[in-house]
Amino acid sequence: MLKQSELDQFKVLLQTLRARVRGDVEHLTADALDRNENGSESKSPTHLAELGTETYDQEFTLRRVENEQEVLDEIEEAFERINDHTFGICISCRELGRPATKSVIPKTRLREIPYARNCVECERKLEESQ
Ligand SMILES: [Zn+2]
Repeated sequence: MLKQSELDQFKVLLQTLRARVRGDVEHLTADALDRNENGSESKSPTHLAELGTETYDQEFTLRRVENEQEVLDEIEEAFERINDHTFGICISCRELGRPATKSVIPKTRLREIPYARNCVECERKLEESQ
């Protein structure tokens, strides 16, 4: 289970994401495409925080444009899970009645996708069944 301090961190992360998702779509689309075309020649990161997030930002931006409302809904659901202290627990595992200790979504995954609803295993099964 996540500590309250960790829940607070993810809450901030989700609030940041929500603000970005609600932002200007056209600008972000152009920005993502620009980075694609320029590749390694794109402007070099100026501080450490940008180094690890470059690829993630781009993927997130592109996905976001595809289904912005879906992401917003997922972010709202994540806020609800933070409030009822089920954040970080796979919803598919919960439905199957697995104990919470065995259905934890890894923190590394939550940092990438803070609104993730499924653990890695369940996500893989979902993708296979599509
Ligand atoms: Zn699961």
